[in-house]
Amino acid sequence: MKRILANVSSVHNSACTFSDNSARFASLRGENLGRVIAIANQKGGVGKTTTTVNLGASLAATERRALVIDCDSQGNMTTALGFAKDPARRTLYNLLILDESIDRVLLKTQVEGLDLIPSDKNLVGAAIELVDMENREYRLKAIVDPLKQNYDYVLIDCPPALDLLTLNALAAADSVLVPIQTEYLALEGVSELLDTLMRLRRTINPSLAIEGILLTMYDDRTTLSKQVAADLRSFFGAQVYETVIPRNVRLAEAPSHGKPVMFYDIHSKGAESYLQLAKEVIAYGTKRFGAGA
Ligand code: ATP
Ligand code: MG
Repeated sequence: MKRILANVSSVHNSACTFSDNSARFASLRGENLGRVIAIANQKGGVGKTTTTVNLGASLAATERRALVIDCDSQGNMTTALGFAKDPARRTLYNLLILDESIDRVLLKTQVEGLDLIPSDKNLVGAAIELVDMENREYRLKAIVDPLKQNYDYVLIDCPPALDLLTLNALAAADSVLVPIQTEYLALEGVSELLDTLMRLRRTINPSLAIEGILLTMYDDRTTLSKQVAADLRSFFGAQVYETVIPRNVRLAEAPSHGKPVMFYDIHSKGAESYLQLAKEVIAYGTKRFGAGA
């Protein structure tokens, strides 16, 4: 645990001295903020995709321009945003491996202000094909960097693995948001992720910060959830968002209707909590970059 804490505080310190001046000055000029956040945790089923979809939609609803990138060959985010499987659709694979132009791949979603780079099962091939490519960790960064000027936030939904696709996402990102399911053994795997982040900061992305740690699937009827949440807060301190995402059936139902939760049931606790999270993410940026963010 001491090692986890040491890692956390070291990553956190650098987040506080974050020095991406171009983003800061852009925001002060009232231009798009262009902040790239990877949503990552190699543990499966902790709420990465749910968070990317609903944080993206909530940022768009608060009039921020947002792009979400589906970096997972399961393509869950693509279907959750209403795009049924279609073998003819161009995806992130076409950008990463075939160098096709972004205009042929970028999709507008039904949410105004929210765009999507979709994926499908072809992305499995990308993870393998990338291995022999030049600049294999930086292929996504090369795609994302020119897009930053068009958006306030770019969110990347990572697969449940520390593979080359996740490395590409973390190389392209300014920061990483880690969803953790509020359950027994919640910390398992987080230490490995933090070790990887530290390694990446020494190698491919020295300015990678921790955006925040998000407690998901919280069940306030159980003492276990409360206990786990209290433990995580005492380990990670201020890095844990105040907003907690409750276990909420509407959040689980919305993807099968191809909608972010706020367009499925705006009054649900799930919709409320992701809007709250968006406010917290924006406020954190404002604190860090100044009032223009
Ligand atoms: P993977 O690692 O497979 O990519 P993930 O981390 O992206 O998974 P999700 O797909 O977002 O996780 O969530 C896993 C499952 O839990 C999904 O069926 C989702 O609908 C459901 N779920 C996510 N968050 C909540 C929540 N707060 N309340 C209820 N169900 C949820
Ligand atoms: Mg997912």
